[in-house]
Amino acid sequence: MNDILLYDSLSNQKKTFEPIDINNIRIYACGPTVYNFAHIGNARMAIVFDSFVRLFRAKYTNVTYVSNITDIDDKIIEAAKELDVSIDELTQKYTKIYNEDMSKLNVLPPDVQPKATEYVKEMVDFIQQLIEGGKAYEKDGHVFFHVPEHAAYGKLSNRAFDQQLAGSRVQVSNIKKNQQDFVLWKPSNENQPGWNSPWGFGRPGWHTECCVMSEVNLQIPFDIHGGGQDLIFPHHENEIAQTCANNNSENPEDYARYWIHNGFVTVDGEKMSKSLNNIILINDILGNYHGEVIRLALLSTHYRKSLDWNEHLLYQSKNFLDKGYNFLKNNSEIEVLEESKLKHELSTILCNDLNIPESITFLNKVLKTTAKFSLEEIKSVLIFAGEVLGLFHDNPDSWFQKESKISLSEKNRIENLIKQRNIFKAQKDFEAADIIRAELKQAGIILEDTSEGTTWKVENS
Ligand SMILES: [Zn+2]
Repeated sequence: MNDILLYDSLSNQKKTFEPIDINNIRIYACGPTVYNFAHIGNARMAIVFDSFVRLFRAKYTNVTYVSNITDIDDKIIEAAKELDVSIDELTQKYTKIYNEDMSKLNVLPPDVQPKATEYVKEMVDFIQQLIEGGKAYEKDGHVFFHVPEHAAYGKLSNRAFDQQLAGSRVQVSNIKKNQQDFVLWKPSNENQPGWNSPWGFGRPGWHTECCVMSEVNLQIPFDIHGGGQDLIFPHHENEIAQTCANNNSENPEDYARYWIHNGFVTVDGEKMSKSLNNIILINDILGNYHGEVIRLALLSTHYRKSLDWNEHLLYQSKNFLDKGYNFLKNNSEIEVLEESKLKHELSTILCNDLNIPESITFLNKVLKTTAKFSLEEIKSVLIFAGEVLGLFHDNPDSWFQKESKISLSEKNRIENLIKQRNIFKAQKDFEAADIIRAELKQAGIILEDTSEGTTWKVENS
């Protein structure tokens, strides 16, 4: 297989991947903070890194992938309070849902999925070491990283000194020596989760969590550190500062060699937000679409670019998968080749910074001109693509069975019935509206009326 080329956000260039230890490629990606259902932005990160891991596994014999769960965070504390449930109950519930949703998207479980709350002792030791090294200081139960003590600060995000103020929103800024200093430990009151520490009862800061969980599970330096693009600053910058400062290094590569970031997800051109009421949850769309359709839709734009989510992406993805599954269904007896020209061509495309959109164009062309190739060649390249892209994992027969359960004409029928029901509702003919609802329910379709209109999903899926 070819060398793998990666776009490294640290050096801002595409580089040939050279492993630290060819017998164990080590990758860390920052996982979700669990206080709600996963949205398509969370899923894109998980799918992109899962595809990277699959590509590395196709080339190297051993890959260790660590992706954490942040189960202690101010957002979690707020959500638990709002819902009047315990923090453990909330985080356990959403961790389970996250993992179930990701599994339906063919995201393989990470080799290690550390939870922040299980590493607090190591975090306390890590912070203590920073204090002893003169890189951090304690003030009123808080511990801050002292940014001026780390000359290399800002190398990943290339931020000028006066732009490094992400921490300034912290209310305790009057007790910091410098506005850029960021919090490593903060005090908890009796109603907040906390642990005993040399600085009193409190909890760790988010950046510290990832430093510790990555180092404990992978040893430093490891090969690849990644996450969503929004994590470059301050999260990854602050992770680098702490880990490098603790090792008297000014070179972020002493923490991780390559830094990879996936782009944002927008919905019909807008950023997802609570106020716009346009947050798309994986759990909801899984009711209407097969996980592979959603997965491919989220991979349809190059991982570094912003992806604009819309229904069309789902149709396009389903269309491609139908073609692939159709070929596999009609050629179930054909053997798969170990080596083939098409497989080599596809691997060249994927090894070029995981160029999935180009790989789909390539496969579409192959499926359009099947007469040009042997059936063995075509089947082999589809199976190989499926391994790296996390597709074609279903049995071709059941793919079409599941899909036929909800065909395009069926979807149109549902949409038309909903329109008709809305007309009845507007005319205050609730009896007629209820008959439509009942009729759809009988067919296994559940309607949900929201302030944005009526949505539907397949029952028990
Ligand atoms: Zn992280």
